[in-house]
Amino acid sequence: GKGLAVFTSGGDSQGMNAAVRAVVRMGIYLGCKVFFIKEGYQGMLDGGENIVEATWSSVSSIIHKGGTVIGSARCLEFRERSGRLKAAKNLVDRGITNLVVIGGDGSLTGANLFRSEWSSLLEELVRTGQITKDQQTKYAHLHIAGMVGSIDNDFCGTDMTIGTDSALHRIIEAIDAIVSTAYSHQRTFIMEVMGRHCGYLAIVTALTSEADYVFVPEMPPPRDWPTKLCDKLEQERSTGQRLNIIIVAEGAIDRDGQPITAEKVREVVVKNLQQDTRITVLGHVQRGGNPSAFDRVLGCRMGAEAVMALMEATPDTESCVVSLDGNQAVRLPLMECVERTKAVTKAMENKDWENAVQLRGKS
Ligand code: ATP
Repeated sequence: GKGLAVFTSGGDSQGMNAAVRAVVRMGIYLGCKVFFIKEGYQGMLDGGENIVEATWSSVSSIIHKGGTVIGSARCLEFRERSGRLKAAKNLVDRGITNLVVIGGDGSLTGANLFRSEWSSLLEELVRTGQITKDQQTKYAHLHIAGMVGSIDNDFCGTDMTIGTDSALHRIIEAIDAIVSTAYSHQRTFIMEVMGRHCGYLAIVTALTSEADYVFVPEMPPPRDWPTKLCDKLEQERSTGQRLNIIIVAEGAIDRDGQPITAEKVREVVVKNLQQDTRITVLGHVQRGGNPSAFDRVLGCRMGAEAVMALMEATPDTESCVVSLDGNQAVRLPLMECVERTKAVTKAMENKDWENAVQLRGKS
């Protein structure tokens, strides 16, 4: 059967295990020889015990676990051609020509580069006597299917990334807990949630927790936000509301591109309103815990679709990323989605908020 390997790379997220499980089982079901690559690209270029054959039962009892059981890592060496050469040798040695990568845009970019270099890497391996001419011919084409595991929902092309829904559950639970104590003491709470370049978690959290104000990276508030914020908080209190909630995305910025931190917001509130104001930074709690039903199903569907895409691929097929569009699992050109995701970040860096929001919206 065809050699197929699955690995997770970049930040972990809930639901990655469901995806790994689906890849392994769908692969075996379709007659492939399936491998795990542990610790992301690091494991791919270290080889050895890091690349092991998967069995049907080796993915039992992982669907409910958070994180990724096969490990994830950041790997500087894979950014160099010499690193990718080692990785190619390890794959050819095991007959792997199909890769499923579960990660963020960085991981997908690396995979795409690896594929575009594949034939020249094999050429070099033959030249240096590391593989045979027969191997070069037999494993001439590398196929790649990606899917996005990230709690941030920061990838253009998919409605939801794997892990976002679970993170939202975690955040909402934390806010509900805080609301009850805030209510008792008439406090103002500022919650910092994850999202370096993407305000999705912050926006959805704000909507579902009846927050009074939200700060996100894509849409900096008007310059007089301190006044607007305080007016809003006061107005809510004057109509009998006993608490205030403010959500701040990790990457929130003002119109000058300067960070709006939870601490900055607290200073504004305390100075102007003298309210008892507390900050909660949720941090990695958002990534922890069990995946939600949605993320488990999403991981399963994406994983199965990725394997099918690889099995149908021809040497000319573009690398794809498996995405959710409405309620459909779809395949989109990998690099196009990566480019658009990068364009959003670039637009934000250039303070072109309107463009950023537009690009982000085009999913
Ligand atoms: P997250 O969104 O969680 O940060 P990510 O996949 O974007 O996930 P990165 O740290 O950017 O995370 O990338 C993960 C790994 O992918 C890197 O450590 C590196 O090994 C590889 N990688 C990223 N970008 C490239 C690139 N341009 N060329 C080669 N490899 C890359």
